[in-house]
Amino acid sequence: MNDPVLAAVGNTPLVQLHGLGVRNRVLLKLESLNPGGSIKDRTALAMVRAAEASGELRAGATIVESSSGNTGVGLALIGSRTGHPVVIVVGQSTSAEKVEAIRGYGARVEFADWEAAPESPDNPRTVAERIAASIPGSWWPQQFDNQANPQAHYRGTGPEIWRQTGGALTHFVASVGTGGTISGAGRYFKEASRGAVRVHAADPAGSVYSGAPAGRIIVDGVGNTWPPECWPSTFDPAVVDGFQVVDDAECYATLHFLQQSQGLCLGPSSGLAVAAARRVADAAPIGSLVVAIAPDTGQNYASKAYDRDWLAAQGLQLSSGLPPLPVPAR
Ligand code: PMP
Repeated sequence: MNDPVLAAVGNTPLVQLHGLGVRNRVLLKLESLNPGGSIKDRTALAMVRAAEASGELRAGATIVESSSGNTGVGLALIGSRTGHPVVIVVGQSTSAEKVEAIRGYGARVEFADWEAAPESPDNPRTVAERIAASIPGSWWPQQFDNQANPQAHYRGTGPEIWRQTGGALTHFVASVGTGGTISGAGRYFKEASRGAVRVHAADPAGSVYSGAPAGRIIVDGVGNTWPPECWPSTFDPAVVDGFQVVDDAECYATLHFLQQSQGLCLGPSSGLAVAAARRVADAAPIGSLVVAIAPDTGQNYASKAYDRDWLAAQGLQLSSGLPPLPVPAR
């Protein structure tokens, strides 16, 4: 697989944020600059390579996966470069831009009910499994259970950040969807620093990963509303030292600040991660270095996170200026 576009996955820049009103430096890893626009290019590529190596994915076989969008875009891109037909099962809340990106790479899109319980026939993973069973020789990567997913970050994202900071990071902040990013990179940092790096999960309001009650999650691609027995095996909570729960108003205001004041047009989970990183940086001892992950590009959210009407329907607005730091609970 010596494709020049696929060779451009990873090795993303790390940029310093300014004007966050906190006493420590915060660096942001721009995963938005991967060829498919998100960190999930790494995951998709790692899963495909592992399955090719094991013989699970044969030449020309169809790839079928459920995805909130980004893994689907990554797989569709890879399929278009490697001759694998691709079918992606998305939810109704997946942005129109991501759906069209998947189709643009020549893949088929099917819709499922993202809220449907794991045992429901309308659940996206069940739908993907059903479609895979109907296509002979097809391969279902199962990003929520595929250990090549965290491995992509243990071998790629983590070591890159370690090198880019000269091993000086003290805190790592990432959101949790499948948990691949935080578990893989987090484990790498723990090992490389002999346990010194603190790992913080940024969790949206409505997600139960933090231990909070389940509610509606509007931040794309992150959080979970199911009980722990249904959590992805790609998420290793033992790597997480602390959770930062961020409500929607703070998440989206931080996102808009990143575009207006930092020149960074990113997806909402980047607003979530930077909001959490601000709190971590504010509370950490002077001289700390906080690294946060920006999982994807904002260009896929023109019709959602950057659209006044969509925001208004969620009770939010296109804000300007950084929200005040919440007073920490004592
Ligand atoms: N942000 C976005 C926009 C995503 O699509 C995802 C993956 N679903 C994540 C963050 C979380 O990444 P991970 O699956 O590695 O936990």
